[in-house]
Amino acid sequence: MRTPTVLISGASIAGPALAYWLNARGWQTTVVERFEGLREDGQNIDVRGAGREVARRMGIEDAIRAASTGETGTEFVDAAGRPLARFAAGTSDSGGATAELEILRGQLSRIIVDRTHDETEYVFGDRIVALDDADDEDGVTVTFAGGAIRTFDVVVVAEGLRSRTRSMIFPDTDAVRELGFYVAYLTIPRTDDDTDLWRWHSAGRGRSVTLRPDNLGTVRATLAFLSDVRGLDELDRDGIVTILRRTFADVGWAAPRVLAALDDAPLYFDAVGQARMPSWTSGRVALLGDAAYCSSPISGMSTSLALTGAYVLAGELAAHPHRTAFARYEALMRPYVDQAQKLPPGTPRIANPRGRAGLATMNTVLRIAGSSPAARLGGLVSRWFTPPADAIELPAYPLRETAH
Ligand SMILES: Cc1cc2nc3c(=O)[nH]c(=O)nc-3n(C[C@H](O)[C@H](O)[C@H](O)COP(=O)(O)OP(=O)(O)OC[C@H]3O[C@@H](n4cnc5c(N)ncnc54)[C@H](O)[C@@H]3O)c2cc1C
Repeated sequence: MRTPTVLISGASIAGPALAYWLNARGWQTTVVERFEGLREDGQNIDVRGAGREVARRMGIEDAIRAASTGETGTEFVDAAGRPLARFAAGTSDSGGATAELEILRGQLSRIIVDRTHDETEYVFGDRIVALDDADDEDGVTVTFAGGAIRTFDVVVVAEGLRSRTRSMIFPDTDAVRELGFYVAYLTIPRTDDDTDLWRWHSAGRGRSVTLRPDNLGTVRATLAFLSDVRGLDELDRDGIVTILRRTFADVGWAAPRVLAALDDAPLYFDAVGQARMPSWTSGRVALLGDAAYCSSPISGMSTSLALTGAYVLAGELAAHPHRTAFARYEALMRPYVDQAQKLPPGTPRIANPRGRAGLATMNTVLRIAGSSPAARLGGLVSRWFTPPADAIELPAYPLRETAH
């Protein structure tokens, strides 16, 4: 039988994970990434529940654990850095704001890419500019920005929340549900005062500052704020820095330190949103990971969804012709995604209060929750911290089967 071929667009988490599982089933895999090399930026991401089970089946759970950021829990602090409440890291697959498996995004990406490098063709610095998907026996003909024209049996778009290729396939769908929340991620030098806790200061007027440990001797900082203005993520670096300086000028605790680092620190600025697509497939093309069903960093579930989606899509593609495989992929993943995308009521506003009263209420709730495990169990704080990471029964797919 002819070897089936797939083009995967995006070399972060979902794309390489799909390549891994299709390689294991005898497919010929090509991954195209618009950046010139593997992107190392990004901060702590969680691998939870079914995502963790997929990592286990990939044989990378130990590698993830070895690259753990070492974060031991979450601590909320006031403007002077005094602790308001502390929560230990999750002791199960899904409990806690700090998950049991926490790793820097770039390191997880590297771990998966390293396990696919021998079999997968990686093309960096290129991207899809046109797709001709007649959905017949000939497959999808793809034109690349670099000029190449190639045909694949299946194309999978794993380009993240702001995917451009997705707009070519679903031109009439408004894919992104904006949450009116921006996050600047920075890497700053570690000092003797830093701890192994994820420390979080809610500063009022919808703003927060956080510091997290990493396993590289630096500290991962965020400056996050609510805003009704759309498109700030499209500004250049100078524009973003100006807005951050203005927005956080009167914020205490670590804000002055993070602002002082803005000129030199690696900076990744993101408009937080969710991908809400009525369908994830069209013809011979499928969406995967954040491009299909980003649940947002607030949920802590996007990476687990990406790993699980890659596992399911590969298993189905290897066992069925693409139409059946895509229908089964949608049916299996949709309930899991729906659960993960249900953010707690009022999120992200409730954790980033705008007014003094809201801030005072939040701090009181945190104090109570932090001092009493019983109060934590049933409450909203618990809901924030416990995403539904297990809400899917993972099928067992046989390896080296091709029924394309
Ligand atoms: C640089 C970066 C930093 C991140 N930092 C964090 C973080 O700190 N915290 C957090 O919770 N989540 C972060 N994320 C998101 C997180 O990685 C995802 O939510 C999750 O892991 C699912 O990943 P994904 O592979 O579906 O999408 P993503 O991780 O978004 O990866 C998409 C990939 O596709 C590439 N791409 C985009 N457009 C094209 C195109 N047209 N052609 C080819 N390639 C394209 C991108 O460069 C990227 O490599 C970050 C993502 C990136 C890319």
